[in-house]
Amino acid sequence: MQDHTAGFLCNICGLENPGPVESFDREVANCSGCGSSGRWRSLIYMLSQELFGATLTLKEFPVLKSIRGLGMSDEAVRLLRQIEGESSPPPPDPSQKS
Ligand SMILES: [Zn+2]
Repeated sequence: MQDHTAGFLCNICGLENPGPVESFDREVANCSGCGSSGRWRSLIYMLSQELFGATLTLKEFPVLKSIRGLGMSDEAVRLLRQIEGESSPPPPDPSQKS
């Protein structure tokens, strides 16, 4: 059972969200800083564990040019830009066909 009186540290924006938390349902956007849901924070947690073997917030991810990712969505492209230090080009416009 989850402790809804405890707060949490958002591993996406780094904001400490004080408790109580109304719901930890995975689709509830309960970070007051970035509006992320538990599902998105879980994804970042798993990436952190798999890539670096540690629990890091997104802002703590090191810039590693040797690691590249391809996104399935704008959120993934934003993560890639964060990892690459904002140097990658913006995501392609899906309305523009080449
Ligand atoms: Zn957040």
